[in-house]
Amino acid sequence: MKVTVIGGGLAGCEAALVLADGGVQVRLVEQKPIRRSPAHQSDFLAELVCSNSLRSDNPENAVGLLHEELRRLGSPVLAQADLARVPAGDALAVDREIFSGGLTKRIDAHPNITRVHEEALALPAGPEPVIVATGPLTGESLAQSLVAAVGKERLAFYDALAPIVQGDSIDRTIAFAQSRYGKGGGDDYLNLPFTRAEYEAFIEALLAGEKVAPHAFEEARYFEGCLPIEVMASRGRDTLAFGPMKPVGLVDPRTGQQPHAVVQLRREDVAGTAWNLVGFQTRLTWPEQKRIFGTFVPGLAKAEWVRLGQVHRNTFLHGPSALSPEGSLHAMPHVYCAGQITGVEGYVESAAHGHLVARRLLAKLRHEMFREPPAETALGALLRHVTGAAHPADYDYQPSNVVFALFPPLPDRHSKTERKTLMMQRARVALAAWASGARLELGPVPERAAQPAGDGFAQRGGRGGRGRRNRGGRDSRAESRSEASAIGGVTAPAGVVNAPKEIVGMQSISAPEAERAAALGAGESNRPTCTAEET
Ligand SMILES: Cc1cc2nc3c(=O)[nH]c(=O)nc-3n(C[C@H](O)[C@H](O)[C@H](O)COP(=O)(O)OP(=O)(O)OC[C@H]3O[C@@H](n4cnc5c(N)ncnc54)[C@H](O)[C@@H]3O)c2cc1C
Repeated sequence: MKVTVIGGGLAGCEAALVLADGGVQVRLVEQKPIRRSPAHQSDFLAELVCSNSLRSDNPENAVGLLHEELRRLGSPVLAQADLARVPAGDALAVDREIFSGGLTKRIDAHPNITRVHEEALALPAGPEPVIVATGPLTGESLAQSLVAAVGKERLAFYDALAPIVQGDSIDRTIAFAQSRYGKGGGDDYLNLPFTRAEYEAFIEALLAGEKVAPHAFEEARYFEGCLPIEVMASRGRDTLAFGPMKPVGLVDPRTGQQPHAVVQLRREDVAGTAWNLVGFQTRLTWPEQKRIFGTFVPGLAKAEWVRLGQVHRNTFLHGPSALSPEGSLHAMPHVYCAGQITGVEGYVESAAHGHLVARRLLAKLRHEMFREPPAETALGALLRHVTGAAHPADYDYQPSNVVFALFPPLPDRHSKTERKTLMMQRARVALAAWASGARLELGPVPERAAQPAGDGFAQRGGRGGRGRRNRGGRDSRAESRSEASAIGGVTAPAGVVNAPKEIVGMQSISAPEAERAAALGAGESNRPTCTAEET
């Protein structure tokens, strides 16, 4: 049987190669070079549309753990990233040409893959399986076909991410648990109360704070349904107090009074390890979000951020309701979806999701049972996000990187550093058990990943490293996104872009190239959705 993969990005390439290596005939439909999204520039498959970093390679970060799991499972994307690696401290940053060029070459040379250069305008009729991996900037025609299959309420064209704060970093002497008018469980939300003076100081800071400029293709008219808080504040100083910060139905137990305004926090995971600032999607730069929320929102002075806010053009399905447990559309069971279009976020997460979809399909074609990776692994946690299993019932589904808040919490309380080590150790045990049960070949724990914590390796990728990369105190992610917009798409270090195309797998690059790669924020994701320590 043949499988059609639509979209030759990170997810599509990973899925196509896993399937083809497994003996399946693959038809890979990619619209480039005939047509391009506003962010895609090169003719290569698996294009990195912005940063050349696949983020932290430290397995004590969720994304580093995902790298490790993919490597051990033989992911073609991770293997090529390792071949294309450029020095970037704790991050897995790559030479774009060696990375994307190498994957393109591999796909074009694969006897089981036929590449078709065309734009898919509609979802193909069955029964042959199809994987849709057309990414965050899926074209209008195919998007409308998806809408027809799933309903318009299940396909979003923009994300609207509110910040998420670590539960144990919220000041509980200030926050009080209460739902408006005691609805639901009566105490489902945490509320951070403002006096009038505190509210006014907050609005002042919000209006003055530095914002990320939208890309040319991000039209303001799309934002009406999910306005950034600073835009609401600019429409009138009381708009937020009558909107997401309205205090009605709430009484602060410390004063016995209704506060002037509140920031409401809603559980992000069932265990309540992470809390979402309800309605607080924002285009403030990351450093500004940390400064303004930490300084002006009562109870967040010591906040540790699991994710910071953003608003981007991003086509994605409501994974939990649009997709069956099999990962295909309820309405068209032969149509599987992979990558960012399912609501995962980031290069690595998209490749990882493509890997899992391909393995599931391989198992199906071989009439074998597919076992999902367990929740304790990074791969399993990512799937728990897409299926909704990681989230409470009323969760507002938005794209997510892989973060430890998606994993089941550890049974006992630990310091942050201990927690990360324990999460990593638990994941390794769970992955090994899963692979053995599923009779999958698992590579060894990679040497680099086996470095002990606390040797400076983790530190460089954490707060220490960020200071160096945040040039002039600006959010280097935001900055790089603006640069990308200014030149119509990709920002790339010149030395790296000019690397010879034929050299696939070259590991060493010249010092100036390495410096430029690092200086351009090779350790950063330019699509900011996860914790600073995770990137
Ligand atoms: C402006 C911008 C900046 C970003 N910056 C970063 C970053 O710095 N770091 C990060 O980790 N993530 C970043 N992301 C997110 C990142 O692009 C995605 O996570 C990742 O590329 C998604 O992989 P994918 O395979 O799902 O989609 P993509 O990589 O976008 O691949 C989709 C492919 O499908 C093709 N395609 C689309 N529609 C059709 C069609 N109808 N027919 C045929 N082919 C089609 C496209 O040409 C493309 O090759 C950014 C996204 C955007 C939009």
